[in-house]
Amino acid sequence: MIFEQIIIGGGAAGLFAGAHSACKTLILEKRSTPGNKLLIAGQGRCNFTHVGRISDFFIHYGDNANFIKHALKKFTNNDVIEYFASRGLEITEDKNGKLFPQSGKSSDILQILVNQCKKNSHHFQLNEPVNNITFSKGLFHVNSVKQQYLSKKLIIATGGMSYPATGSSGDGYTFAKAFGHQIVPPKPSLTPVFVKNYAFQELAGNSLKDCEVSLYRDNKKSRNHSGDIGFTHKGLSGPGIIDFSRFIQANDVLKLNVCGISMEEFNQRFLEAVKDNGKSTIQIFLKQFDLPKSLIQLLLAQINVEPAEKIGNINKELRKKVIDQFCELPFEVERIGGFNIAMATTGGVSIDEVSPKTMESKLQPGLFFAGEVLDIDGDTGGYNLQAAFSMGYVAAIS
Ligand SMILES: Cc1cc2nc3c(=O)[nH]c(=O)nc-3n(C[C@H](O)[C@H](O)[C@H](O)COP(=O)(O)OP(=O)(O)OC[C@H]3O[C@@H](n4cnc5c(N)ncnc54)[C@H](O)[C@@H]3O)c2cc1C
Repeated sequence: MIFEQIIIGGGAAGLFAGAHSACKTLILEKRSTPGNKLLIAGQGRCNFTHVGRISDFFIHYGDNANFIKHALKKFTNNDVIEYFASRGLEITEDKNGKLFPQSGKSSDILQILVNQCKKNSHHFQLNEPVNNITFSKGLFHVNSVKQQYLSKKLIIATGGMSYPATGSSGDGYTFAKAFGHQIVPPKPSLTPVFVKNYAFQELAGNSLKDCEVSLYRDNKKSRNHSGDIGFTHKGLSGPGIIDFSRFIQANDVLKLNVCGISMEEFNQRFLEAVKDNGKSTIQIFLKQFDLPKSLIQLLLAQINVEPAEKIGNINKELRKKVIDQFCELPFEVERIGGFNIAMATTGGVSIDEVSPKTMESKLQPGLFFAGEVLDIDGDTGGYNLQAAFSMGYVAAIS
């Protein structure tokens, strides 16, 4: 039997493409049920997109944001909201603008997509991992563990490599390579950071609001980022670290500005405070930064300063140490969390050889890509599912 279209992967992107395809389509899914990653998204609540203007989404896709702009504009967050709402989904927004099903169940989203694919009379083959694909005589030959299927068009929507138990373990890269596509080495992203000689275990559970973090590689500052940062038992986490993790690697140094002001301003405020009342203590001076008491105590202990030390007694050399500690607190990265705990993959099928307007391969006509299999990854906040839906839509209509 020859299908008009085969979609490999019944995840967010593959199902959304199926839901927007009218032609005779076969969806091949490795696992016994589709959408396993979708089901665990947002801790089972599925943060499926974000509020705001679509142009505000662009900064949430790292260095490859340009590629995804077209798809995002073609099927925006408002289109996604309208799509699910018109199919009966009640939607709730959290205080940060993340959108979830009101029911708190990812399965509501999955059900809508599967129902629409069935309504479109698509054929599902579950428990059917694809092994390889060839192209001859105008047709794609898709070989699964069970049999061969033929199609005129093919969408590869096999996802990235994170949480491989959900079915996405990087198979799409092998398929793409067979057609000459370059693969940007995949790396875990949206993942916490493990720190060498970590001395902040006792602070686990504490977090810093909107903290600036600078990334140093080979003693050179390469990037910075801001967001809420949490201390864990073995390192750093929270959106400020997780969203930044796509750029971080072992042996990098992360410097946290825990006080939220520049070194110059810290110095100035300190000198003014000494002028005002040199008998006041360092602990009182540091109160203005609204930091956890345990963090202040630990940071001072690390540079051998007593919390009750009078600020007037702190000489220039020690003041410099205090400023470094509160404005550029260093953490040397041992490693970032692996694919077993990362929520996304950075890297994948290179975007250079895929048209952003159609999601079609520039190397093989009729071959399309959608979702995380491509070298596109978003921040936390619903940006990855929005990307998967937008790309799935564009691949389908193209
Ligand atoms: C724990 C966790 C929480 C997350 N929470 C959120 C969130 O709240 N909001 C958000 O926006 N993003 C979230 N994400 C990210 C988001 O889920 C993914 O970016 C998104 O699912 C990617 O969609 P996809 O269709 O490209 O890939 P996937 O959803 O991974 O789907 C790929 C599908 O392809 C199938 N497949 C793979 N290889 C083959 C093969 N050889 N043959 C047949 N089928 C194959 C897989 O079994 C899988 O079903 C989360 C991710 C994780 C891991």
